[in-house]
Amino acid sequence: MLDRLLGHDFLCSDGRIVRVNTRAARVARGALSDVQAFVRALLPAGPLWVVDDENTHRAAGASVRQTLGAFGHTIPGDAIAGPVAVSELVAKARGAASLVAVGSGTVNDIVKSAATELGVPYVAVGTALSMNGYTSAISALLVDGVKRTLPATPPVGVLIDLDLCAAAPRALTLAGLGDMLSKPFSEADWRLSHHVLGDPWVKEPGELLATAFPRMVKDATDIGAANPDALASLAECLLLSGLSMAIAGASSPASGAEHLISHYWDMMCYARDEHPHGLHGTQVGIACCLVEPLHHRVASLGALPASAFNVDAAVAAHPATRVAAEAQVLARHGRLPEAVVAAIAVEALKKWVPRDVLRERLLRVRDGRDAILAHVREALLPYGAVRHALEASGGPTSPEALHAELAGDLDDWTVARDIRARYTVFDFASEWGLGPGGPNEGLACSERAGARA
Ligand SMILES: [Zn+2]
Repeated sequence: MLDRLLGHDFLCSDGRIVRVNTRAARVARGALSDVQAFVRALLPAGPLWVVDDENTHRAAGASVRQTLGAFGHTIPGDAIAGPVAVSELVAKARGAASLVAVGSGTVNDIVKSAATELGVPYVAVGTALSMNGYTSAISALLVDGVKRTLPATPPVGVLIDLDLCAAAPRALTLAGLGDMLSKPFSEADWRLSHHVLGDPWVKEPGELLATAFPRMVKDATDIGAANPDALASLAECLLLSGLSMAIAGASSPASGAEHLISHYWDMMCYARDEHPHGLHGTQVGIACCLVEPLHHRVASLGALPASAFNVDAAVAAHPATRVAAEAQVLARHGRLPEAVVAAIAVEALKKWVPRDVLRERLLRVRDGRDAILAHVREALLPYGAVRHALEASGGPTSPEALHAELAGDLDDWTVARDIRARYTVFDFASEWGLGPGGPNEGLACSERAGARA
């Protein structure tokens, strides 16, 4: 599948033609020994900068720099991917013809943004299978205490040495698996936003992973054991996942409510100038375990009779005015500082609608529930499959495994829906009042009622 996409124009069913910027991917054991030929074939002649961080410098950056006879920039080990780190690199590498990023999450985000700003191509040399951002057209940066996904040009090539990845800290690999396991939920959220709000949705991003994703889930135990063959299936998924976002033109196929929880946890730490409790994917994997029961509960509601849905009560529980909605948002983020909550409220209020609009929406969803929720359910694996895959890999599955301050169940974290205007299962649950004390709290299909615990 990868080879059919790389360097090609991709015709999407909605008529868009998406240029896949990444022209080559080499994923193999010992691939690092080919780095010179790989880079020379893709990057123009002229000054080349190799960018790594303190860890990846030791693992591969120093040797790559030497092999390529390149200039070098090593990002401090505790750096945060944000505008400051990007500006530093841009200032240093001005005049560069191209860049090579040696690393995974932070290094990649910084180099991708810097290369975009400099207007030069870059190659990503992956040192760990910790995230799906290698081929994505976005870069995750912390701006004013809020994690933002900003448009950025993907690399022209990605080289991943599976031996190097097998030797990387196991937590990095498990993070990549955790990030990937969000795929069914992100896709379900995306479909919900399509059916409920009319947001654009296309089938292709999900279809890209139709073969690779189930294989990766099946390989979860071996991925946890750093078996290079199993790592190949994780690597393929991560690269395809990045492309799926590029093809969607949004992060929707790979980032839903579970990502909002992880970003929320990040923001709690950033507010204190601390690093997050866990890696992005580690947190996402745990958040997947939190959202899995809710997704299955919602997807099963299509089987209920219309009379089971209390639309009047849901509308009555909805804030009647924007001011009332804002007051509610401002009051429910006690774990974050005031300035951050004010910024959150701006995003959250983009999702507020007057009661008559909500009523029309709820009635439409109720009347179309069968088809809508069947389509959403198709995106999901069988109930429990995601949690089982994470458990099989040896990755953490509960928030308190990361830090005591994260202890709690899903209901403690659905407020994360406020941090981004994107519609997710949290908004669906909120506007129907499916949560504790909500007007449709008891709404559940009997077959799935046990899934709420
Ligand atoms: Zn992610």
